[in-house]
Amino acid sequence: MNRIVELWETVQVVPVAGFVNVYETDDGHIAEACPAFLLQQHRANVQHTGKIEDRTYRAKTTPLDTPYTTRVVAAIVDYGAMDPAEDISRFVEAMPRAEFEERYGKRVCPVCDKPAILVAALDRYVHMDGSANDPCWRPPLTEEGSASA
Ligand SMILES: [Zn+2]
Repeated sequence: MNRIVELWETVQVVPVAGFVNVYETDDGHIAEACPAFLLQQHRANVQHTGKIEDRTYRAKTTPLDTPYTTRVVAAIVDYGAMDPAEDISRFVEAMPRAEFEERYGKRVCPVCDKPAILVAALDRYVHMDGSANDPCWRPPLTEEGSASA
């Protein structure tokens, strides 16, 4: 093993509304709500060398000098912390939800905004995370505007 991992530290969290993180799946693109953008500074590099098996593995952290290189990345909430979405495999980019829907079609539950796919046989959106769909599948309104029995 011989690789260098960049350590980026979040110095500011900028909440956003109406943005989604886009991921590529085998069934097309899906979107999850993007809660914020992170302003990060490249503070250090960690060089990993050697092998764990023969006990030659070493990790050496090299702090960088100011001024730090900065970047802005889309965030995900991961176990209560905000991490860069780009660390998740198959992340494509963050964009306004309207742009996503224009480009890929509406791929979220229209009721709760969870990632969802439209199942033609049901003529309904099905949550991709396996959560209950019933709360989002209330009886549709009739043309007269009253709930059907
Ligand atoms: Zn839903």
